[in-house]
Amino acid sequence: MISNQPPPEKMMFQLTLRRRGISDQAVLRTMEEVPRDEFVDEADREGAYRDSALPIACGQTISQPFVVAYMTEQLQLQKAHRVLEIGTGSGYQAAVLSRLAGQVLTVERYRKLADVARARIEKLGYHNVEVMLGDGLNLPPNIGPFDRIIVTAAVEQLPENLVERLEVGGILIAPVGPHQGVQTLVRLSRTETGIERKELVEVRFVPALPGVAREL
Ligand code: SAH
Repeated sequence: MISNQPPPEKMMFQLTLRRRGISDQAVLRTMEEVPRDEFVDEADREGAYRDSALPIACGQTISQPFVVAYMTEQLQLQKAHRVLEIGTGSGYQAAVLSRLAGQVLTVERYRKLADVARARIEKLGYHNVEVMLGDGLNLPPNIGPFDRIIVTAAVEQLPENLVERLEVGGILIAPVGPHQGVQTLVRLSRTETGIERKELVEVRFVPALPGVAREL
């Protein structure tokens, strides 16, 4: 008899996310559906469903699944949302966002990472994702506004230039803190009257750096 149970490593993956407090069913379902093993290096495929960050090209990392699920849950995504991600990396977070939102624009400063992520996202059929090479901290003024903005590299301060691109009712989430060490995940909500700020959990991200990378 053919079982339609997910493979054991995926069952553990779900259990870990639930145990750590992820409760949004749509987020959990998406985490189950998006194949993380397609976003890691060949050599790391076997460990793709463990709850840890892994190295990718250009000295960067694919985030820990719990952090991806947590940030996604905090964004409270709806199908009509236009989402901006800064820090494409492997493209995994962008793929997760794309299943829950309307359109995703993701920006990466390394050409190699942007090209690999774009090809991978296309191959996997996530048609509502656009991968852009650029400096996410210094985007041209005509980009935006967005309903949701997610920064997946550590910033020392919240970039004003991104906060400005948030619609009323919008949410921005970013790891704020020193480049080396621990950052705090901060969530900003833009209301009719101003900005609300909430500090969430401690995280560790690679730094957000200025400019498009010179290296390939
Ligand atoms: N979200 C990614 C992981 C991000 S790692 C994933 O799901 O795999 C952080 C990424 O941010 C790195 O790839 C890094 O090169 C990129 N980055 C850092 N500073 C940036 C900037 N100013 N603009 C765009 N991307 C940046």
